[in-house]
Amino acid sequence: MQKLALLGGTPLFKKTLKPCNSFGKEEVKAVTNVLKGQVLSGFLARAGNSFLGGKYVKKLEKDFCEYFNVKYAVSFNSASTALQAAVGALGVGPGDQVITSPFTMSATPSAVLWNNALPVFADISEDNFCIDPKDIEKKINKKTKAILAINLFGNSPDYRQILKIAKKQNLKVIEDNSQSPGAVSGGKLTGTIGDISVFSFNFHKAIQAGEGGILLTNNKKYAFRAQLIRNHGEAIIDDLYGENKIYEPILGSNFRLTEIQAAIVVEQLKKLKKLNQQRIALANYLTKRLECYLWLIAPKVAKNNVHVYYVYPLRFLKEKIGISRKTFAQALSAEGFYVAEGYQKPLYLMPMYQKKEIYPNSKFPFLSKEFSNQAKYEKGICPVAERMYEKELLFCTICQKPYTKKEIDLFCAAVKKIEENVEELKKYEKKK
Ligand SMILES: *Cc1c(COP(=O)(O)O)cnc(C)c1O
Repeated sequence: MQKLALLGGTPLFKKTLKPCNSFGKEEVKAVTNVLKGQVLSGFLARAGNSFLGGKYVKKLEKDFCEYFNVKYAVSFNSASTALQAAVGALGVGPGDQVITSPFTMSATPSAVLWNNALPVFADISEDNFCIDPKDIEKKINKKTKAILAINLFGNSPDYRQILKIAKKQNLKVIEDNSQSPGAVSGGKLTGTIGDISVFSFNFHKAIQAGEGGILLTNNKKYAFRAQLIRNHGEAIIDDLYGENKIYEPILGSNFRLTEIQAAIVVEQLKKLKKLNQQRIALANYLTKRLECYLWLIAPKVAKNNVHVYYVYPLRFLKEKIGISRKTFAQALSAEGFYVAEGYQKPLYLMPMYQKKEIYPNSKFPFLSKEFSNQAKYEKGICPVAERMYEKELLFCTICQKPYTKKEIDLFCAAVKKIEENVEELKKYEKKK
């Protein structure tokens, strides 16, 4: 029996690999072309063609429309601002509620708050860590306007049920697809299922441009409202009112993407399929090799779904092995494979929600005449999300470049080594 590195043995894997970076000469050439043209942004905040951006921004949006077979794509300087615009495009505002998951990046529910509406948290499913349709139904009331679902870790929630609920209750659906470009849910590409979807291009997402995001929709009005929000809405609204008097005023800001970033994303989109395929192949290989462990649950992929493994999530069942998640994570990290514990603390437990305060001397919009004390953020409202955060969830990035099958074999050897040494680890835990 090999001695564990955590207990003084030799680690199985000693190298440190730099995280995945898919930039190549294509991106360098694209940026050079933009610089040669010397137009780094083609936007103007007034009525006319430049209101929609420059050459590369328009090319990027056209490419996304083709790739995802949607009518409209509106680029943004981040997924966070795209989410803010998505909520605004639906016309959601004070007095409205949006049901979302607490197991996501803070930007998702913040997009609701930026529109002065209230995020209501529904629990997640332990099978995919995404919002659970059964709990959505319980959280609907007459103020609910939309469901903001997150396609987490490369996977997606049960949209068949979500769309059924939305139709029955007359709710709109937004997909936060920041982590799952190229994934499939019920046979359809994620990002094409809801009324509006949002993607991220920040530096650690699958499509990378430093910063950036995009919004997709088939609804002309939503697309136009999103374009207004992106580009100082009121500046052009005045002109449009004069022309045809059809558009409502809207609050906008500068959420525009630069030409350089757009040119990079055009190249990155071409690489998406291949990068996804590489991650899927490694993840499938790993999942197969972990089947023998009852205490370590590999990701589940529902029928007609494709998981693109932005990260590779695992569930750790303490009662089936007898050591804590922390000890397991430490032992695995000591062998050379860093695993993160818990992902995101369920967001309602963060101070902003606990204190119900985002402005000094005001509880708006959490407690206001629009909401008559309806913001419920106490511990226990989403027990599955809390259990994943506190006890079960682990994730790693070994299913992506530069890792290969060779490192996955070593990862599996480390898991095996930990199981073989579990009695030693129990003693180690007692001593601490
Ligand atoms: C990264 C991320 C965002 C925010 O993306 P930015 O482009 O950095 O603003 C939003 N939602 C989820 C689920 C994310 O992972």
